Amino acid sequence: MDIFRGQNLLEFSVRFKTNEDCKNYLSQLKWEPGYECKKCGHTRCQVRKDYSPTCNNCSKTESAMANTLFHKVKFGIRKAFFICLEMSTTTKSLSSSYMAVRYGVSENTARLFMHKVREGMKSSGASLMDGNVQVDEFVAGRQGSRQAGQEL
Ligand SMILES: [Zn+2]
Repeated sequence: MDIFRGQNLLEFSVRFKTNEDCKNYLSQLKWEPGYECKKCGHTRCQVRKDYSPTCNNCSKTESAMANTLFHKVKFGIRKAFFICLEMSTTTKSLSSSYMAVRYGVSENTARLFMHKVREGMKSSGASLMDGNVQVDEFVAGRQGSRQAGQEL
């Protein structure tokens, strides 16, 4: 798949124009090593319109967002992608009040989501401070089972 690399905000906004673009990307990233049904282990699926694969054997559907940072994000996955990009490409420490104004979310929402992103970065071994983190390193379900079942 074509992984987004770099820190260019304009390129990023062209690549991720809609929430659907983000879901598609997430879905590709998540199942890039190959699809395997979480319920029955079957490896064939149909991908639905919202980019969630449905198992050909047991019909279990897994959302592209499940077990990722974007699980239960209510303010839109595209906004969340931008927040991730901003957090991963700055060496400054960003405050939740600043991000709330910048992205039009409540300060509390910003704080909770930023916490999740930081946790995600920690578990992927990425550092917030080096400015070299790529979105793909922590957006997909690569944080493993740690995030599973963990509520915001
Ligand atoms: Zn299945």
